[in-house]
Amino acid sequence: MRVGVIGGGQLARMMIPAAIELGVDIRVLAESEGMSAEIAADRVGDYTDAATVLDFAREVDVITFDHEHVPQDVLAALVDAGVPVRPGPQPLAVAQDKILMRERLSELGLPVPDWAAVRSPADLEAFIAEHGGAAVVKTPRGGYDGKGVRVVRSAAEVSEWFAAIAEDGNDGALLVEELVDFRRELAQLVARRPSGEVSAWPIVETLQVGGVCSEVIAPAPRSAGRIADVAADIAVAVAEGLGVTGVLAVELFETTDDRILINELAMRPHNSGHWSMDGSTTGQFEQHLRAVLDLPLGGTGTHADWSVMVNILGGPVEGTLAERYPLALEGHPTVKLHNYGKSPRPGRKVGHVTAVGDDLDAVVYEARAAAAVFQD
Ligand code: ADP
Repeated sequence: MRVGVIGGGQLARMMIPAAIELGVDIRVLAESEGMSAEIAADRVGDYTDAATVLDFAREVDVITFDHEHVPQDVLAALVDAGVPVRPGPQPLAVAQDKILMRERLSELGLPVPDWAAVRSPADLEAFIAEHGGAAVVKTPRGGYDGKGVRVVRSAAEVSEWFAAIAEDGNDGALLVEELVDFRRELAQLVARRPSGEVSAWPIVETLQVGGVCSEVIAPAPRSAGRIADVAADIAVAVAEGLGVTGVLAVELFETTDDRILINELAMRPHNSGHWSMDGSTTGQFEQHLRAVLDLPLGGTGTHADWSVMVNILGGPVEGTLAERYPLALEGHPTVKLHNYGKSPRPGRKVGHVTAVGDDLDAVVYEARAAAAVFQD
C-alpha cells in the first residue's frame, strides 16, 4: 500500500508516523526543499504542474493532500490517468471556493450564516443595510488563517478586493455573510471511506486569536447532548452530501441564540483534530490514511475526560525549539510535544502540545504552560 501526499507541510509530516505504524509506504511531493515533511519527501516539485504530479502519482496507489490548493485541471489529469484521488476533485472544488461552498451547503439544507455573492459595492452596501449595518466579506479563494476575511461597515473597506475582481474580468464575486453573533467556535471532525463508512470524533471547542487557531478543548465543554448530536449530524451530512473521502473538518459557530452554523470546511486532517493523536484511540492522521486507503476506520473514543491542544505559534524569537527542550520536557513530563521541524517566525505554526487528563483546569494549565516555554 502506497500513499502519495501532495504538499510537504506539517499535516503531511504528521501522517508519516501513522503510516509507519500501519506499514503503509508514504511518499510526499513537497513544494520546496527543507519543508516540514522533508523526512518522507522523495520529490520536490510544483503541484500546479500536471506532468510533475502525474509522474509522482505513478509510484503510489492513492493520492491525498496536505492542503486543498491543487488546481482542478491537475486533479482531472490524475482522474483521467486512473489514479484514485481522495478527496476527489468535486468535493475539493467546494473546499477551494467559499462561494461554491455556501451554495452547496445551502442546497443540502445545512445551516450556514446568511450569505450572498456580491459583484459590486452597491450590492454589498445593500447586504450591509439589510443586516444591521455590518457584515463579513471574504475573498472566495486563497484565504487562510483569517487572511481574506474582513468585518466591514461599508463597501469602501474592501474597495481593493472589488478592484481585483474587476481586473480579473471573469465575472468574479466576493462572498458576504452576516456578522454572526457567536458564543464560541466549535469544530466537528469525521472521516469517511469511499465505501461509505463514516466515523466521528467528539465535537471540540476551538479558540482563535487574530484568525489563527490557538487552543482546542476536546470534547467541547457543555456540549453533551443536543450540540454534539447536531454537530455530528451536520458533519456526516456534509461528508456524504459532498462525497468527501478522508478526514473532514467542519468549523462551526455556536450562536448566542443557540444555533449551530457552518463556517468553514477543511477536507484533510485539521488543526482542530491534533488532540486526537494523543487523546483518542485513533488519531486523525491514522484515520485519514485508513479512510483514503478504504480500510476499516479506527475507534474514536478518548483516553481521558479531556484533551487540550495548544499551538506553538511563532516559537522562540532566537534559537530553535530544541534549545528549550530541557526546560519544557523536564517541567511538563505529561505533555506530548509535536515539533514540526519548521524555523521559528512570528505567527507561524511551528508545533503544538497536548495534555490529557480528567481535571479540565489542570489539563488546560499544563498545556498552556508547556507551550509557553517555547514562546517569548
Ligand atoms: P479562513 O479560511 O481564513 O480560516 P474563516 O472563514 O474561517 O477564514 O474565518 C476566519 C475567522 O473569522 C473565523 O474563525 C471567525 O472567527 C471569523 N468569522 C468568519 N466568518 C464570520 C462570520 N460570518 N461572522 C463572524 N465571524 C466570522
